[in-house]
Amino acid sequence: MSEPSPEILAAFEAAKGFMPVGEGLALYGAAAEAAKLGLPLLEVGTYCGRSTILLADAARRAGTVAVTVDHHRGSEEQQPGWEYHDPTVVDPEVGLMDTLPTFRRTLRKAGLEEHVIAVVGRSPQVAKVWAGQLGFVFVDGGHTDEHAVNDYEGWAPKVAPGGLLVIHDVFPNPEDGGQAPYRIYLRALESGDFEEVSVTDSLRVLRRR
Ligand code: SAH
Ligand code: MG
Repeated sequence: MSEPSPEILAAFEAAKGFMPVGEGLALYGAAAEAAKLGLPLLEVGTYCGRSTILLADAARRAGTVAVTVDHHRGSEEQQPGWEYHDPTVVDPEVGLMDTLPTFRRTLRKAGLEEHVIAVVGRSPQVAKVWAGQLGFVFVDGGHTDEHAVNDYEGWAPKVAPGGLLVIHDVFPNPEDGGQAPYRIYLRALESGDFEEVSVTDSLRVLRRR
């Protein structure tokens, strides 16, 4: 399995975000494998670009590109007063979260700007206008059932045969976390369209048959 260079790993570890190192290495390996298809890699849930660094570097090495989608206003649990809120990513002028400036700095520092297409928008709206096939889809956006189902229905059909669908924050035990990502993971398996490739903590890698 491919591993990131020490420089990329250091940039990843320095970036703000929600991707643990162990799962990040599994994500990188999957992205590097899928990138060989020569199709774009797509992420739902950019936040400040922590996981994007890994997809961008895997894309760069294979001569393809990473696309990352986020409205940059944060998920429910990242809003002021909630568990995962970070007051340093609020735009003081409009009083709303805005992770786009931090994301851009993250990519710049990692030297990966030219290997990423950042789409600022809502995942279902972007999926609707996205016509092409993808070699890899990483679902790490909103964690309500509504968001997770929209992400699955919007993006899973665009994964090319042999391509990978990766889902983060899959917790089979409700005591460990919300169940929406787990439910779309089960749905992907039950559809018969995907087979499981690997499990790394809460990260699930599935391959389209
Ligand atoms: N992958 C990131 C973490 C993503 S956090 C990392 O490695 O750190 C989840 C992100 O999903 C948030 O930035 C939030 O703004 C975004 N998000 C939630 N629902 C969304 C939707 N419907 N469309 C686009 N982005 C969404
Ligand atoms: Mg996540």
